[in-house]
Amino acid sequence: MIAAWFQCFRGCPGKYSLYEVMYTCPTCGGLLEVAHDMDALRARSAAGWMSLFERRASTTQWPYGSGVWGKREWIIPDLADENVVSLFEGNSNLFWAERLGKQIGLPDLWVKMCGNSHTGSFKDLGMTVLVSVVKQMIARGQPIRAVACASTGDTSAALAAYGAAAGIPTIVFLPQGKVSAAQLIQPIASGALVLALDTDFDGCMRVVQEVTRDNTIYLANSMNSLRIEGQKTVGIEIVQQFDWAAPDWIVIPVGNLGNISAVGNGLLMMKELGLIDRLPRLVAAQAAKANPLYLSAQNGFQEKVVVQAQQTLASAIQIGNPVSYEKAVKTLQAFDGVVEQATEHELADAAARADRTGMYTCPHTGVALAALFKLVARGVIQPHERVVVISTAHGLKFTQFKMGYHEDTLPEVEAVAANPPVYLPPDVKVVKDVIARRIG
Ligand SMILES: *Cc1c(COP(=O)(O)O)cnc(C)c1O
Ligand SMILES: [Zn+2]
Repeated sequence: MIAAWFQCFRGCPGKYSLYEVMYTCPTCGGLLEVAHDMDALRARSAAGWMSLFERRASTTQWPYGSGVWGKREWIIPDLADENVVSLFEGNSNLFWAERLGKQIGLPDLWVKMCGNSHTGSFKDLGMTVLVSVVKQMIARGQPIRAVACASTGDTSAALAAYGAAAGIPTIVFLPQGKVSAAQLIQPIASGALVLALDTDFDGCMRVVQEVTRDNTIYLANSMNSLRIEGQKTVGIEIVQQFDWAAPDWIVIPVGNLGNISAVGNGLLMMKELGLIDRLPRLVAAQAAKANPLYLSAQNGFQEKVVVQAQQTLASAIQIGNPVSYEKAVKTLQAFDGVVEQATEHELADAAARADRTGMYTCPHTGVALAALFKLVARGVIQPHERVVVISTAHGLKFTQFKMGYHEDTLPEVEAVAANPPVYLPPDVKVVKDVIARRIG
């Protein structure tokens, strides 16, 4: 039997069951991580894992139609089939950004479309794992009344949907007025208890940590390392989609810093088990209005910087005190990582340019693309290299951002690619004139 357990991320001794309600190390208070019995996993060869994962990716057999559960032995090996709460997340497409890549002199540019998922963001990948574990805990008689999270909008949408699918009550804490209309209505529609607090994300995080001290309300934020286990499949999927070749770079927009360590963990596991022989380099991209990791990188990660996050169009990463800071630093060091930031103008401009080449990018993907443009311009990323940008959410969740851009009403943004509708009378001659002027 292949086993997995919680252990202290900083290395304190002790192994704990994944079905115990705990989020931090009882010795040092640091974050936990999920560890795997690598010797047991090595019993199957690298080629064996590859063909198993490929076979499962093309089936709808429960629960393997999910990109996460298709790799279950690497995630939560002992979760019972009947307790898997899956909406067949993962296996998202890799978009070859051919035209955008050519424009910036990077022909091998790809975008991993994690927003093409059930609730429109990569948060589905982690939430399927967390809610499944909770379902198994409840099935075994543990007294859990509800699952709760603080959110900048996407975590709550995912938690509420997976909770609804499982019939498990959910409570979401949102910073009032700081999430998009789509993100607000998602958990409302799913039947979650939606608590809109007059604070920011960091304030919501403080409250939810107090509320979940009572172990009957289970915490679903990414300080709970179960989330990381699901999200780590993004890195694995990218490699699989390139026929098991690692790209040169992966660019990720970051906020609370869980996802970058997740992507790193998936890749490290592949290397340890012989599926790849080299690692890509990672880029962590932040909004300049909420850039604690960028500032920490300036001091060589000698000290964690905490900021008061300012309002940014990239609302899902408007976080000043990232919970998974230590994990992200370790990941960046293992992957020869780079941290870059983007202003409001840069992120909106990058998103608009990408849209003009066939994408429909959320502002966070705009942050990642803007960081990429800068690194290409500085020669850090070379023209011949293969780059994957992780698109974290679907643009359809951010209609206000898109409208604001094309109406040229966004603060600090010069909307050079604004494309407002042309209002005309229903007159064929007038219409033909406009077409002649615009199209030629
Ligand atoms: C959550 C989220 C992020 C940031 O992920 P972290 O794990 O918090 O760093 C980026 N983009 C979107 C759209 C998100 O929802
Ligand atoms: Zn510890």
